[in-house]
Amino acid sequence: MIKKSKKVKDYKLLTKTLPTLRYLDPNSVFIHLQNSRCKTYDMFVKEGDHVCFGQKIGVRHGGFFDQPVHATVSGTIGKITRKLHRTGRKVDVVEIKNDFLDTPHESVIDRTDDVIGKMTQAEMVEIIKDKSLVGLGGSGFPTYIKLGTKEKINTIIINAIECEPYLSSDYRLILEHPEDVITGLKYIMQALNVDQALIAIKAMKNSLYEVLTQVLEVRFPELNIQVVKLGDYYPQGWEVEMFEQALGIRIPPGELPTKYGVIGFNVSTAVGVFVAIKHNLPVTKRHFTITGDAIKFPQNIYVRVGTSVKELIDLCDGFIEGEKNVVVVMGGPMMGTSVTSTDVIVTKATTSVIILKDVEYKEEQCVRCGSCVYSCPTHLQPVQIMNAVKRNDKDVMKGLNANECIECGLCTYVCTSKIHVTEYVRKAKKLIG
Ligand code: SF4
Ligand code: SF4
Repeated sequence: MIKKSKKVKDYKLLTKTLPTLRYLDPNSVFIHLQNSRCKTYDMFVKEGDHVCFGQKIGVRHGGFFDQPVHATVSGTIGKITRKLHRTGRKVDVVEIKNDFLDTPHESVIDRTDDVIGKMTQAEMVEIIKDKSLVGLGGSGFPTYIKLGTKEKINTIIINAIECEPYLSSDYRLILEHPEDVITGLKYIMQALNVDQALIAIKAMKNSLYEVLTQVLEVRFPELNIQVVKLGDYYPQGWEVEMFEQALGIRIPPGELPTKYGVIGFNVSTAVGVFVAIKHNLPVTKRHFTITGDAIKFPQNIYVRVGTSVKELIDLCDGFIEGEKNVVVVMGGPMMGTSVTSTDVIVTKATTSVIILKDVEYKEEQCVRCGSCVYSCPTHLQPVQIMNAVKRNDKDVMKGLNANECIECGLCTYVCTSKIHVTEYVRKAKKLIG
């Protein structure tokens, strides 16, 4: 049981009450050809070729898997250039100039419920692999590997907790498209031959509870799916914490939940499964939060994958005080990565961009208050790891299990002396591999 962190101001209020804006017609999209797991790639098209949305235009090569790359608009292939990835590194991207016709590729065909109802796990896994679905909550992990598990699964949990401050795109997604979420979960249950599932939400999100329970009762009475309310604290959405609070099962470090008969999927990933199986379509659009105290009108926006974040900032009427002195964070404020420019693009696994005023904090001496130790959800000793990093003592870093850090950011958040403790622990992980 972890110590509950202090309650924070509800930064989600900036966006969660607003209906999702649609921005589906950028002049161009920029599709990543590389990411943190895939360094090399091959292209199936060249500059000047016409492509349709949903068309396979290339393939990324990872260490133990390939990821097909798809067009997210119809139009003309442009040049390959380099742009910042959400991880903060520059990678190759290919431009597709939008023809605004939204012409689907011939492979984009709806399957009937009858056809879907007879599908096996292997058939569904093959579709998910072909459509290159990954964890859309930010993990970017290939979904076909999870869905293809051979372990006996007893319970599936859809993670709709979205515990990071500021983010509310999953919240809006459920409110606006509850049937897509539940149908995606229904397909996952079929693939894994499981007859019970949970949708985990934060206790305070009564509106989600009401919407989901009503839709389940009226539209899906045959399914054994419960909506469970979990804690209103960070990091309740961390899978290990979610399984423990929802099912009483604690997954030990380094072990997979499937070994314990449970498996979790993010709520957007469930919708990705629905889109792939029902429409035979990869993720070409996603719900995305753009927020923070440095932009004028924070929003949730339904966007094409590959849209420039700069364009989305303009859509929000720009910066409050200009682009200087802002911090751009891709992902949530606790676990996201700060990037050096707004010249970034929306990827499949990018949940959000947070643009904050750059307030300088002066680090002070550690006062040994122990707050970082009490707050760590993985029971580490962040301050001791930090001291070991300063001494470059790798044996101590290993002995303190620095590798078990989930980079939740809580040790930095609670630090009395404003020390970036998480950065030290991250560095320890890199040093000990
Ligand atoms: S970032 Fe790592 S060390 Fe710091 S509190 Fe989170 S899990 Fe613990
Ligand atoms: S929270 Fe900060 S000041 Fe307190 S022990 Fe940890 S590193 Fe030191």
